Amino acid sequence: MINSFIDSIKLDTLDKNSFKKLFENKNIIDGSIVADIKGIAMFDKIIIDVDQLSDLNPRIQVFCLLHELCHSLRFDKLGADHYLKMLANENFDEFAYMVIYEELLADRFASFMFYRLTNMTYRWDETQKLSHPYYRNQYVKNMVPLLFKKIKNRKAYEKFWAKFYEEK
Ligand SMILES: [Zn+2]
Repeated sequence: MINSFIDSIKLDTLDKNSFKKLFENKNIIDGSIVADIKGIAMFDKIIIDVDQLSDLNPRIQVFCLLHELCHSLRFDKLGADHYLKMLANENFDEFAYMVIYEELLADRFASFMFYRLTNMTYRWDETQKLSHPYYRNQYVKNMVPLLFKKIKNRKAYEKFWAKFYEEK
């Protein structure tokens, strides 16, 4: 599934074989994702909405896949328990810092890998722009509360994300 999606990306300079290799050991699922979310990285899978992604600029398609891949690699490295503990943090400032940290990291990883795979730069203003105080504050105000105190354990984690997608 992921390979055929990568094949469909219309970006001449994209090294598709290297791109596919990055996802070789990953469990990728095509799902209908509600709201304006382009992909969801969970502990055991990455959900992408192929229909929704297909309508977007190919640069964004590549970036989104790389962004979710970064989250997934972090989950593999640090483990579900580590993240469940972080998600259960009831100190809003610490919680927001952690979410922003992970999002910035995923954007930077995606920008860097985008360059490696396409030989083109991914511009800062094409990312979530979270290194800029204005956009970071907007994110903390609008996005972070959606997650804060919502996920206290593994069961709540599964239940929380289940609301956002349906497997096709
Ligand atoms: Zn993210």
